[in-house]
Amino acid sequence: MCQKHYAYVRIFFPSLFVCLIIFMKYLDVVITLLLSLLLTIGVGYEDTIISVGGYLFLALIFLSSKQWLKWLFIFPIGLIATLYFQTGYIYGHPNIGIVASLLETNKREIIEFLFAIPIKVWILNLILLATFSYYLIRVEFEFKWRKVVFVSGCICFYFSSLSLFVSHCYNSTEHYIKQIDALKNSIHQSANWHILKAKPRYKTYVLIIGESMRKDYMSSYGYPINSTPFLATTPGILVNGYLSTASHTAVSLPRTLAISHGLDLHPVNNIITLANAAKMKTIWLSNQGFIGQYDTAVSAIAVHASEKKFLKKGNFLTNNTSDYALLPLFKQALAQPYNGSKLIVLHIMGSHENFCDRIKKDIYNFKDKDLSCYLSTYNQTDTIIKTIVNDLKATQDSYSLMYFSDHGLNNVSTIKGKTQLVHGDLYKQNYEVPLIEIASDIHQHTMLNKQISAFDFMSIFSNWIGVKTAQLPSLNVYQLPQNKKIQVLSGNQMVLFKSLKNDPDEIIQR
Ligand SMILES: [Zn+2]
Repeated sequence: MCQKHYAYVRIFFPSLFVCLIIFMKYLDVVITLLLSLLLTIGVGYEDTIISVGGYLFLALIFLSSKQWLKWLFIFPIGLIATLYFQTGYIYGHPNIGIVASLLETNKREIIEFLFAIPIKVWILNLILLATFSYYLIRVEFEFKWRKVVFVSGCICFYFSSLSLFVSHCYNSTEHYIKQIDALKNSIHQSANWHILKAKPRYKTYVLIIGESMRKDYMSSYGYPINSTPFLATTPGILVNGYLSTASHTAVSLPRTLAISHGLDLHPVNNIITLANAAKMKTIWLSNQGFIGQYDTAVSAIAVHASEKKFLKKGNFLTNNTSDYALLPLFKQALAQPYNGSKLIVLHIMGSHENFCDRIKKDIYNFKDKDLSCYLSTYNQTDTIIKTIVNDLKATQDSYSLMYFSDHGLNNVSTIKGKTQLVHGDLYKQNYEVPLIEIASDIHQHTMLNKQISAFDFMSIFSNWIGVKTAQLPSLNVYQLPQNKKIQVLSGNQMVLFKSLKNDPDEIIQR
């Protein structure tokens, strides 16, 4: 090799090597940045991504200076965050509702959830997994001032999205454990109702507890597609302004069906023990699960009923029972002879995700499958209510039926013409639900425009069944005082309903 060539090679290879090192460092920076963004989005802090994601990026850079720091700090929390990615991307950061849903979900629900995840989310999750592995194995930034770097790394981590994630996980789980303890203890307690007067007006009371039904998609509340034809015309009182206590079944219902003022719970003083104390026969029919499976919170109330039947039994593949299966059970309950008044509660699956699994047939057949099935579940619930009202009419006895939904949903789709409605707690529509009464002595279709909180449902209920107690005011929907400062349980705290954002309904183009 001549002298000139040798000089070239001597310069070329080292500079290639330097370029490669610079490129690798550059790649390391890019991957660490991508990892911090994905981790922040994946644990549900998209709206503050610049600040909390930025701190995470700096923390990841500083803490990479030592291998053991990465494996001790970043690995365990990052791994949990990676596993949480799909839930976080769709439902946001952890709150008591998400913790309850994750812990009380059965196998069938997990399968339904995994099938409903859009392909985009799976791809992002894979990219997260790849960048996370690369970071753990390859990324290492060296610094001179080791102690300063370590302290800076810890401070940045403290302000990062992952630290927020850990504290939200902790608070939510703590709340959830408190709630479960209160509910479990209540099963063995007896209520201390002090009954002043008990004079039920009707022979049969029916309470239908709906699921995930937003008021604004109901034609009875003005939606342009005829999603609830029976409720839109039947004589009854429709409350326009009823707000659920919270945004998830397991958090909302124990605060609706028992005394609660917010975070507190008094599960033993509930609708069933009140009706029992008023000498009514109480029957609970449910298409949702029983203790240990899906809906612990509600079963702790149901357990006090003199008769209860749960349709969700057997293994997860056979128990996707339709709400229609409740109808023969309802007929039997109605036919049982009883001298006093009866309370029959029906807890339906209603419009629970995934909507297409809830129905026999998609009756709308829109291109927007999610919305089409969602509206079909409305139609199904409408038909079920209609059938029950007809059964009640056929008895020729006096009756009253109340229907409400446990919470609403919000749309997370960013594609126009494609809806993806999920549980959430940031929008008004997560709480705006129907409250409807139909009775043998109500002959007009009335819309009552008034904001009423489901935290007052116990008062409404005691008035409905004609009971006065020392513990509760007994007021109907007309008598309840106007309250402009209604609060709802959003995440782990009580917030003013009017401070929430709007999530307008999507109207399908046919
Ligand atoms: Zn629910």
